[in-house]
Amino acid sequence: MQTYRNYIGGDWVEPSSGNYSEIRNPAQLDEGVGRAPLSGIVDLDQAIAAAAAAFPAWAGRILHKVANIIEGQIDAWAAELTREEGKTRTEARMEVVRAVELFRYFAGEAWRVGGDVLPADTPNTLLYSVRVPLGVVAIITPWNFPLSIPVWKMAPALVMGNTVVIKPASATPIMALRLMGALHEAGLPAGVVNCVTGSGGVLGDALVTDTRIKAVSFTGSYAIGHALYQKTAPRLVRTHLEMGGKNPVIVAADADLDKAVNICVRGGFGLTGQACTATSRVIVDRSIAQEFSARLAAAAQKIVVGPGLTDGVQMGPAVSASQRDIDLAFVEIASEEGATVVAGGTAAEGYGYFVKPTVITGVRRDMRIAQEEVFGPVIGIIEVGDMAEAIAVCNDVAYGLSATIVTNDVRNSIRFAEQAEAGMLKVNQPTAGVSIQAPFGGFKQSGSGMFREMGKGAVEFFTQQKTIYIDGQ
Ligand code: NAP
Repeated sequence: MQTYRNYIGGDWVEPSSGNYSEIRNPAQLDEGVGRAPLSGIVDLDQAIAAAAAAFPAWAGRILHKVANIIEGQIDAWAAELTREEGKTRTEARMEVVRAVELFRYFAGEAWRVGGDVLPADTPNTLLYSVRVPLGVVAIITPWNFPLSIPVWKMAPALVMGNTVVIKPASATPIMALRLMGALHEAGLPAGVVNCVTGSGGVLGDALVTDTRIKAVSFTGSYAIGHALYQKTAPRLVRTHLEMGGKNPVIVAADADLDKAVNICVRGGFGLTGQACTATSRVIVDRSIAQEFSARLAAAAQKIVVGPGLTDGVQMGPAVSASQRDIDLAFVEIASEEGATVVAGGTAAEGYGYFVKPTVITGVRRDMRIAQEEVFGPVIGIIEVGDMAEAIAVCNDVAYGLSATIVTNDVRNSIRFAEQAEAGMLKVNQPTAGVSIQAPFGGFKQSGSGMFREMGKGAVEFFTQQKTIYIDGQ
């Protein structure tokens, strides 16, 4: 099993503790994927110091080279991603391709980002504004997209001239460390990006409260994000939080049922339901609910679950034993609250953390399964009487990341677009799946809301504006 080291100041550095965590394939538990450092505050301090020292020299122009390096090894990277996180080879490949595209997209921003020239109040005066970097930024990422989330934060941060300290999720540190290798190979100047792996509980507070850190970009759960915000607020440090979802698909009475089932299967069971934009609620018109539920349950039962690198497998395992246990606990809670499991609901066979694609009917909007994020392949079906009730149920949760309606009626689409409370709305498309040029982020407890990721929002987050008045008289 390969032993990885922290990437600090352009060098591969052993953790001061001398301790490592063993990352195992969640689909094949006796297979090791790699050993990642269990770092401490001393390692973190070195990383922040390296990023602070590198800041003035960094221009941010090598992102195309990194993209080329990853693109040359897409299949190998995808296989490693599957071994680490569990998603299928196809899903992993899409994530690696997305990482390449993100580097390319943001590399282009180096040429596009500009400022404004404004009319001055006095003659012979030049008044303009430019965007300048913030300094050292902290990036904290979750396990479900171990490559693309680090890249979608890091690429805009770098191209805008910031330097980075990244702390990836403990469950999936290997892809982030591989990414460090690609950046190193591309010729990234020492200290511009630094990666320290280890427990968020040990490293988190020291990272986000360090006065050398000028911004924090976090993706993860609401509980951790909310607590983190309390730590950065007193210092008025720019903080971006992308958090959970409870994303609904509304199936209107006029919907094409095959299309609706396909949209729910892709959104709910794709990526093992381990996406912040995964479909976890289906809000269906009562007149078609029985037929729709039967078809969705049948489709769920046909999904082939197994190791993501095995041909024909359509859904991989949960990332960890604890995530599998959460998935199954929510099924039990739903049953106790009076809902009915019509597909799955149990662990699936195999030497890994497999869960069967699960469909639960008879869900009421106030049940925990209708309100709380599961983060697994579990869909709850809620029946409603009309579109007004459907939209009310859609909005009746603490989250607001992504939402879909399946309908052929333009009036339903327009009403949904106007009234649904979520950052990303889809008509006849799955809740999961987004474009890098478009604003990405959520309403309510899904995000801190002031900025968006990807697109222009990412450039805005990682820069500050400077306004310049020059009197030419
Ligand atoms: P998590 O438990 O909140 O962890 C996220 C990151 O925060 C990890 O790197 C974690 O480190 C770190 N962390 C833990 N404690 C910390 C602390 N006290 N201070 C600072 N950082 C700390 O989330 P997860 O289980 O990895 O990911 C699943 C969650 O992410 C779901 O809620 C999902 O919806 C959300 N998500 C949101 C989006 C989005 O864009 N909205 C995208 C993907 C995922 P350790 O791993 O060491 O604990």
